Amino acid sequence: MKRRHFVGGLAATASLAACAKQDANCGAAGTSGGAPIEWTAVTSWPPKYPGLGVAVNNLAERIKAASNGRLLIKVYAAGELVPAFEVFDSVSRGTVECGHGASYYHKGKVDAAQFFTAIPFGLNAAEMNGWLYYGGGLELWRELYEPFNLVPFPCGNTGVQMGGWFNKEINSVADLKGLKMRIPGLGGEVLRRAGGTPVTLPGSEIFTSLKTGAIDATEWVGPYNDLSFGLQKAARFYYYPGWQEPGPTLEFIVNQAAWNSLSNDLQAIVDVCCQAINLDVNAEYTHGNASALQQLKDNPEVELREFPAEVLDYLQSISAQVVNELVAEDPAAAKIFASFDAFREISTPNQRISEQAFLETRER
Ligand code: CA
Repeated sequence: MKRRHFVGGLAATASLAACAKQDANCGAAGTSGGAPIEWTAVTSWPPKYPGLGVAVNNLAERIKAASNGRLLIKVYAAGELVPAFEVFDSVSRGTVECGHGASYYHKGKVDAAQFFTAIPFGLNAAEMNGWLYYGGGLELWRELYEPFNLVPFPCGNTGVQMGGWFNKEINSVADLKGLKMRIPGLGGEVLRRAGGTPVTLPGSEIFTSLKTGAIDATEWVGPYNDLSFGLQKAARFYYYPGWQEPGPTLEFIVNQAAWNSLSNDLQAIVDVCCQAINLDVNAEYTHGNASALQQLKDNPEVELREFPAEVLDYLQSISAQVVNELVAEDPAAAKIFASFDAFREISTPNQRISEQAFLETRER
């Protein structure tokens, strides 16, 4: 018996020594010799919803493949484990390890977070990526979330959205008065000051609310997602452009302790896969919106309209007031806005002579 123990002990010692040469964590969870790490992700989106919802499913698949099955993420859609707007708190508390949603849903909890999804008349998708990855935006985002034990990653961008679905025409500023509209974030505050009543509803409740007249209008995303909810069956007028969300970034958030428990290579895999999904979601929308818009234009029940210049000018002036007040009240928002706005200032002239000039030329 003693000898067998001794031999076993030797084998174990040899195996540990071989392990130590390759990896300090050899045999631990998430290493090639250990059990996989299993995480739970909660989201703000309906299950397997195109674009927004499948983003985190695709992220989980890529992380699984890239890590050779060492990090497995099980995804729960909105309401399956926690409600749509409790993703932030659940991941912050460590009830679950990670989540996918949009930072502007945390308005009222951490107001400055809204800059990292979108602000009215803010940055488009390409500009958001430029600011986040190269302009210091992501560092500011990480700093803002640190007290909440959260590590954020940009993880999807819908591109410029639509102004939304209205059951009445918007011909002038006066038509915004009394308008009850689903519109989250700072865009909602802008509508409130224009005399409307903003409502924040998760995606799953929009169609019924619009169809029954509980709300008069809604913004959601754009043709691809709006068609999948059937919003064209609940309102007639489809307005553009989406002044309120010019290039909204989605977020993947990881609990700090869960993040710290990952080896360096698994952290790199999560980081790179989030960047891949950030691109993938935008590509899905660019493609999906084109064909969905075609279908909506062919539908005689839908009237595609551009907001009158007077209305957009008015909304833009209120947007500046709303942002300025947020910045005046909240030092974190002031710091983030200074960075955001400095980039917007220099990016606008560049966009004008590049993307904007090119698109106008292509249509000539
Ligand atoms: Ca939206």
